[in-house]
Amino acid sequence: MKQKITVLGSTGSIGTNTLDVVARHPDQYQVFALSAATQVDLMLKQCAQFKPRFAVMASAPHAHLLAEKLKQNGLETQVLQSQDALESIASHPEVDAVMAAIVGAAGLAPCLAAAKAGKRLLLANKEALVVGGALFMDTVKRHGATLLPIDSEHSAIFQCLPEDRSTWAARVDSLLLTASGGPFRQRDPATLAEITPEQACSHPNFSMGRKISVDSATMMNKALEVIEARWLFDMAPENIKVVIHPQQIVHSMVQFTDSSVLAQLGTPDMRVPIACGLAWPERIASGAPLLDFAKLAALTFEEADAHRFPGLHLSWQALSAPEGTTTVLNAANEVAVAAFLERRLGFDRIHAVNLQTLEVVQPGPVASLEDLMALDARAREQARAIANQWAL
Ligand code: NAD
Ligand code: MG
Repeated sequence: MKQKITVLGSTGSIGTNTLDVVARHPDQYQVFALSAATQVDLMLKQCAQFKPRFAVMASAPHAHLLAEKLKQNGLETQVLQSQDALESIASHPEVDAVMAAIVGAAGLAPCLAAAKAGKRLLLANKEALVVGGALFMDTVKRHGATLLPIDSEHSAIFQCLPEDRSTWAARVDSLLLTASGGPFRQRDPATLAEITPEQACSHPNFSMGRKISVDSATMMNKALEVIEARWLFDMAPENIKVVIHPQQIVHSMVQFTDSSVLAQLGTPDMRVPIACGLAWPERIASGAPLLDFAKLAALTFEEADAHRFPGLHLSWQALSAPEGTTTVLNAANEVAVAAFLERRLGFDRIHAVNLQTLEVVQPGPVASLEDLMALDARAREQARAIANQWAL
């Protein structure tokens, strides 16, 4: 039987890589539904190739345009656009697996819907887990969903950890997340204010969405990944460490109590963790080139410079603060990155917006999706006001 898959954010970097892997295994996977924000033409192409039952667009004008074009091309995909359309395609009874590849907190509600429906949830959308925290993990557990990490570091750790979770506390000393250090690893910190969106989005090793590219450049991506690891692996924050590894060949490591370290290696190509999540515990071809050790130069490691990357430490700070603080941090960062990408905020001010928002927004109780979304909205409002003070 073919696995039926919904891809949320199918037109993005993770979404297109997912469809690339899926297309290599037409006998094993069938696309049930796709979703995107605004990219009508790419969605049309994907519908022509994968013939999904449903396509969801984020706005009514884009949905109408897609429906028209599908009709002109004789395609039968049904277009949906409503508040809960994403939740419907994530939780539909016919769906086996959901690839969560929307960027930002906007992906939380469909992730929770997939978890509540007990789906196999392939999580690329790290912000959803950073925002959702304990509520996200409880929902997965309570409804018997299977949560598989797609973020390459977390996929690596998942592959290195023993299968039996109950052994982790006794056997694992720490998780070592590797970080590329981004394009500004060696840049003079005094010149950070001059960085343009184009410079921040040119990642040294591969091409990603604009938001995660900026996060990689500030190392807020790694901060979000520390929080993600805390929840995925139920690990104490002080036992999660970060090491810079510019070549991105070692995707992360687990240090055990006997000081043995297991690492997962591969070419830096997101199709590897995507294929791993799709097929787990089986293995399928991903399309990524094999790692050629004869051609590998040195693998190097170094400590992250706290002065150059002040945002990195906000993860541990937020994890030791009241629940909901990571939701505030994520919201502030989404606002600050968007302002930077729109050239309204200097690159060096992204951290300042995050820090100041954390200082002024006190999270209340976060027992439901509604609580989380209200806190997210409150933090965004504050972050916007703070970013406006420093507007360029
Ligand atoms: P991207 O910007 O390339 O794609 C995002 C996708 O989400 C697009 O299809 C877009 O149409 C859709 N989208 C955006 N906002 C939306 C909204 N409000 N409602 C509905 N759909 C919306 O981003 P990406 O690089 O593919 O990253 C996706 C997620 O995966 C992010 O959370 C990122 O952190 C994570 N991730 C990405 C990579 C990578 O290599 N790109 C690696 C690890 C984790
Ligand atoms: Mg990652």
